[in-house]
Amino acid sequence: MPVKKAVKKKPIKTKALKKVKAPGRFAATPTLTILLILTTIGMIFFFLNSIQYKMENNQLQKMVLLLTPTQSPLLKDYNENSFKRPKDIPESTISAKIKIPIIMYHYVEHVKDRSDKTRLGLSVTPESLEQQLKAMKSAGYDTYFARDIPDIMNKTISSDKFVILTFDDGYEDFYLNVYPLLKRYNMRATNYVIADFIGRKDFMNPKQIQELIDSDLVEIGSHTLDHIPLKTASEVQARREIFDSKTKLETQFHISVKSFAYPSGSFNLDTVKFVKEAGYVAAVSTISGVDQTEENLYYLSRLRPGLFTPVK
Ligand SMILES: [Zn+2]
Repeated sequence: MPVKKAVKKKPIKTKALKKVKAPGRFAATPTLTILLILTTIGMIFFFLNSIQYKMENNQLQKMVLLLTPTQSPLLKDYNENSFKRPKDIPESTISAKIKIPIIMYHYVEHVKDRSDKTRLGLSVTPESLEQQLKAMKSAGYDTYFARDIPDIMNKTISSDKFVILTFDDGYEDFYLNVYPLLKRYNMRATNYVIADFIGRKDFMNPKQIQELIDSDLVEIGSHTLDHIPLKTASEVQARREIFDSKTKLETQFHISVKSFAYPSGSFNLDTVKFVKEAGYVAAVSTISGVDQTEENLYYLSRLRPGLFTPVK
């Protein structure tokens, strides 16, 4: 009996001692400990986020660039400067950038004249485009119109992954080769039409454009009246190209033309001002990249398929 009593008493004493000591030992450090934990968590979060950002960017670049070879083995022929930000255009200072890949296509065809290096470099085959569309779809990318970009930026439109497919110049091969694929995969694209070139040889006619509009799969944007370089144009001429092309397309097709593409990526800050004044909600450039901000809403960056990927 006495032995049992002694055993019972011991643990009671130990518990009592711990209860007294515990608050005394930790009382001075809880704030510091919490701060330390929070800082560590914050640092880990920031580190993981930046890794994820880099990985996503790389993944995106790889997906677009590797899957989209042009038909030209001589990509050096291109003036790569047109894919860099012009010196007179300020770099975005906003740090909160949203990644919206806007892919810039021109021809989608099998180029017959293999000596036409410019055309080869601006073309992807319909088969290659189909592969790209499938890849984007299976990677979970949702296609939107260029005119939707302000809504994507202000989060009115929400999706995990955005991609904007843009096709410049309004070539007839868009109607013949791209439109059937858009219908097959239920994907959207923006076509930048040169208003005065409609109906010319190799360009879409009004009936084809109307069919695209009626499908709701294609946005018609303006690419000026005559495809002149706007940077060197006079103010009168630049305004006419920007304002009148919009009015002309709107009157002819009873639509609202909301986005604009600079021919040959040629623009300056005056041109940007005219595009805003004309009532466009966004404009795309040929500056290479996927980071978009409200600051470059009127000279959004685009990705050129295959620019860095020579074909064997
Ligand atoms: Zn063009």
